[in-house]
Amino acid sequence: MIPFNVPPLYGTEEERIHEAIQSHKICGDGEFTEKCHQWIENKTGCPKALLTTSCTHALEMAALLCRIQPDDEIIMPSYTFVSTANAFVLRGAKIVFVDIRPDTMNIDENLIESAITNKTRAIAPVHYAGVSCEMDTIMSIAQKYNLFVIEDAAQGVMSSYKGKALGAIGNFGCFSFHETKNYSMGEGGALLINDEKYIDEAEIIREKGTNRSQFWRGKVDKYRWIDFGSSYLPSELNAAYLYAQLEHDQEIYDNRMQSWNRYYVGLKDLQEDGKIDLPLIPDECTHNAHLFYIKVKDIEERQNLILYLKEKGVETVFHYIPLHTAPAGLKWGRFHGEDRYTTRESERLLRLPMYYNMPAEYTDQTIKAIKDFYVGNK
Ligand SMILES: *Cc1c(COP(=O)(O)O)cnc(C)c1O
Repeated sequence: MIPFNVPPLYGTEEERIHEAIQSHKICGDGEFTEKCHQWIENKTGCPKALLTTSCTHALEMAALLCRIQPDDEIIMPSYTFVSTANAFVLRGAKIVFVDIRPDTMNIDENLIESAITNKTRAIAPVHYAGVSCEMDTIMSIAQKYNLFVIEDAAQGVMSSYKGKALGAIGNFGCFSFHETKNYSMGEGGALLINDEKYIDEAEIIREKGTNRSQFWRGKVDKYRWIDFGSSYLPSELNAAYLYAQLEHDQEIYDNRMQSWNRYYVGLKDLQEDGKIDLPLIPDECTHNAHLFYIKVKDIEERQNLILYLKEKGVETVFHYIPLHTAPAGLKWGRFHGEDRYTTRESERLLRLPMYYNMPAEYTDQTIKAIKDFYVGNK
């Protein structure tokens, strides 16, 4: 069976973890965590990055930093992972879902403004598949109405929009280093703080509401309880695993891009014949080959294709039951305007096997099986 995902493993992770153990500092904020922070800051240009225990927790930190209050409204797409919404629902906020664009599966930037009310506090764009949302439009709406922008860039590490790294455009950006993402530490993430005035507060919230980070740096002589907070910092063992991959960022990126391009070229005739749709990368975006999807006719054809591919030894998956149709979404959210594309397009989407070091034969076998399904050459 060709697996859908294999967690990234470069080969030097054990060595780096061993170094972390030998350093006798395995809690958070040691040497490897600092190296990961520097990598993120150098790559994205954000003034301050903080590793977190997950992207979910980075989103929660962003919601705390924005001081989201009960009944505040947050605008986001319904086609996303639950964490984008949960982070704000935990603060008592209501979610206002806006339809997506069928071409990128990202929030339709032209529908945001009409969803704004006097309760709106923030916009949370999600860069699906590591392809950027239309950030110029989103940032100018946010500025006009004085709203926070929290980028869910879980899938967007090493992607850019008009030359700017994803995660470094809004007030806050959130990365994921989960095992299903391009660079991993098992479970983990990062908060990118793009507005320097939030750096101190972010460090306090991440360190259980204390100013321990400042204490370590010798800026204060004792550390105390300053604000609300929790424990959002990962252990050095996890940071060491991640850093081993960040040291080889380009190689991992190129390897994934090869698989992505191979799929794209191999499946192009099916798109030209009108059988399937392939991902669109707008001109102003560079992507990171996070995932490869095809879009088929409808949910029924997708189910048949999944079963057919399974028989041929290819594991494929779909994702995101639109949040506004799920029990929690009905309770804490509402859909603004018409659901023209969210449900329809989510039902058409199928993700193909994609991971670091996937053999080219696997890509070719997957392409062939999809072609056989459509050409009827079974
Ligand atoms: C993976 C993902 C998350 C959650 O990331 P974790 O690190 O697992 O918490 C959030 N949003 C999106 C869009 C994701 O793809």
